[in-house]
Amino acid sequence: MKTKYLFYFIFVLGLLTSCNKETTWPALIITGQNSHNWQASSPILKQVLDNTGMFACEIVTTPEKGGDMSTFSPDFSKYRLVVIDYSGDSWSETVRNSFVEYVNNGGGVVIYHAGCSAFPEWKEYNEMIGLGGWGGRNEKDGPYMYYQRNNLVADTSAGPAGSHGESREFVVRSRKPDHPVMKGLPNRWLHGQDELYSQLRGPAKNMEILASAFADTVPGGGTMRDEPMLMTITYGKGRIFSTVMGHANEQGGPAIQCTGFIVTLQRGAEWAVTGDVTQPVPFDFPSIAGVVLRIDYKELTPEEALSNLGSYDVSKSTKSLTCLQHYIRTIANNPDELLKMEKKMNTALARSETTVEAKKLILRELSWIGTEYSLKSINDLTADEDLKDEALFALERLSR
Ligand code: ZN
Repeated sequence: MKTKYLFYFIFVLGLLTSCNKETTWPALIITGQNSHNWQASSPILKQVLDNTGMFACEIVTTPEKGGDMSTFSPDFSKYRLVVIDYSGDSWSETVRNSFVEYVNNGGGVVIYHAGCSAFPEWKEYNEMIGLGGWGGRNEKDGPYMYYQRNNLVADTSAGPAGSHGESREFVVRSRKPDHPVMKGLPNRWLHGQDELYSQLRGPAKNMEILASAFADTVPGGGTMRDEPMLMTITYGKGRIFSTVMGHANEQGGPAIQCTGFIVTLQRGAEWAVTGDVTQPVPFDFPSIAGVVLRIDYKELTPEEALSNLGSYDVSKSTKSLTCLQHYIRTIANNPDELLKMEKKMNTALARSETTVEAKKLILRELSWIGTEYSLKSINDLTADEDLKDEALFALERLSR
């Protein structure tokens, strides 16, 4: 009984701490019409933002295309963040005005993917998104914006706005490494297979381009320009973060599962609310070397990485090992955390299900983070023909 009460106490304590957290902001995801699979994307966006522990998202769906839009009248003043996963019929004038008022008063906004194609005729919205595409947008709406080498170009030449070639993996390049959203992220990383939105144009007022991607020659259109991928815009007292990445198919798919997309969305959303970012860069953020996906949209924990690593064989992805090594680097100056990790690695070493390849990798990691705690279990492995060399090597390094 006592244990039961203790668990109950810890549970209630946990609830209290989470309730006391002042940084849980109510957020509204608007969807219901889109040329995209919004039924898939909106719940994912909710999950991704809720996972930060900073947001409590609600999803509101508008009437279907051609429906009575006067029934759509959200109360924006209840929210700190509005996420646009919408491209469809115009909102009523009342709703448009109250949205402008919400942003003017300092409300945060995230524009997601095809959100930049919404409302071509709504002047204020176009100022909020900075750059948009499709919907008959052209030179009347503002210049094309892109990078040519390191120069930002505002190209006023005539032409339609919005295009993308075939989906592919592409490199995203940070253009504002000191911006709170970008700080600590690698200068370049590989993004999961996605549409590379190109030829966006718009008023581009009070806008910063945080990241770009080079649209090389692919079937269906490569502009050979470095196209804006992540933008911030200020409007009145409000802040807007726009990501044109993250195309979702029915299963979600690699563009919206990409850790680079997820993390920049989470950071951009926080910035839109406060103007700053407190979220640490996660250890599974991709590099130029390879795409990193979060299949279930959650950060891989070191425990999961270690557990995945247990079934490692050389033909498989090294993602779990990379995550684990990255995690160990982040706790390198924290002996308590290192010891905890060391104990877990010892447990994995002792398990018969852990593959030989995985044990070799763990031994290599232990050879430099290990303490006296590991000596016995490593010593035991010197009797194992398959692991003898690695165990002896680890012991030698640990005894130095
Ligand atoms: Zn798309």
